[in-house]
Amino acid sequence: MLDLLLPLRCVVCGRGGSQLCALCREELPWIEPPLCARCGAPTAWPVERCRECAGRRLAFASARAAVGYDAAARTFVHAWKERGLRRLAAAAAHLVAERLPAPEVDALTFVPADRGRRLERGHNPAERLALELATLWELPCLPLLERTRGGRQRGSSAAERRTVRGSFRARGAAPRKVAVVDDVYTTGATAAAAASALRTGGARRVEAIAFARALRRG
Ligand SMILES: [Zn+2]
Ligand SMILES: [Zn+2]
Repeated sequence: MLDLLLPLRCVVCGRGGSQLCALCREELPWIEPPLCARCGAPTAWPVERCRECAGRRLAFASARAAVGYDAAARTFVHAWKERGLRRLAAAAAHLVAERLPAPEVDALTFVPADRGRRLERGHNPAERLALELATLWELPCLPLLERTRGGRQRGSSAAERRTVRGSFRARGAAPRKVAVVDDVYTTGATAAAAASALRTGGARRVEAIAFARALRRG
């Protein structure tokens, strides 16, 4: 736990005192309604489907995130994931729990890291976030997914395939209602692949929850 030994500095602006200072926290691009009911993209008015998710087969019932993935959120996530500042997982979980209601599910799970990434970082950010959220929301957190090699998503774009990097399968039977946690929601391809595996494993309804979400402009 190297981060416990270092003086606390805001990972976004460098001010001393805490790893995410009050100013930077305030300035995070909080995702505010109205949203697309399905994929959680901010929209001009509430919609069931939006341009981003219409016509796509998404195995999750809904996806929600706390903040937009802008420069500040990117710096924060980078410090959390790549620099291994693990305390930031707890901070991220508090930000999520502050903005999103606890999901009505039987359990949380997380997107498993691919082996190389996990070895490189020594931790799986999605798992850490899910564990912290499970404590805050008083829900069980179960390792319900594993990665399979060489998975290819039919019909997905090259960008989505790069994002998913393989696919998932359920480890044993999944509970009826599950929320799958990831650090960042980018195209939705990873969340959809994870939800699909959970449904194959027996889940009837899957929600996707992320700390940050890529926002498309224009
Ligand atoms: Zn700051
Ligand atoms: Zn949508």
